[in-house]
Amino acid sequence: MITDECINCDVCEPECPNQAIYMGEEIYEIDPSKCTECVGHFDEPQCVQVCPVSCIPIHPEHMESRETLWQKYQRLQGEVQPAGSLSAGLPPVSSGGGA
Ligand code: SF4
Ligand code: SF4
Repeated sequence: MITDECINCDVCEPECPNQAIYMGEEIYEIDPSKCTECVGHFDEPQCVQVCPVSCIPIHPEHMESRETLWQKYQRLQGEVQPAGSLSAGLPPVSSGGGA
């Protein structure tokens, strides 16, 4: 999440590999349904790395395991490009659920 300490410096938005960062009413915001904490793309959250005022903590209501984030990453990838390009990284984790 981005706190109200955000100075709208614009540097985080282009760094996000998931296009999860967008300009909100007053400051930048993160769409938690798109944010994978950069899992699948980078070792560290890119927005956190670049933010000059360190105003991007993990949202307390969106604490997600690496497996959950990885599944989100795969789901997002499925929406933007054909499956089959996801050979690297963590193996898929079965959720136990149906379709
Ligand atoms: S942690 Fe990564 S995926 Fe999430 S908003 Fe920041 S740059 Fe985007
Ligand atoms: S990098 Fe930080 S201060 Fe700059 S727009 Fe993003 S959240 Fe706001």
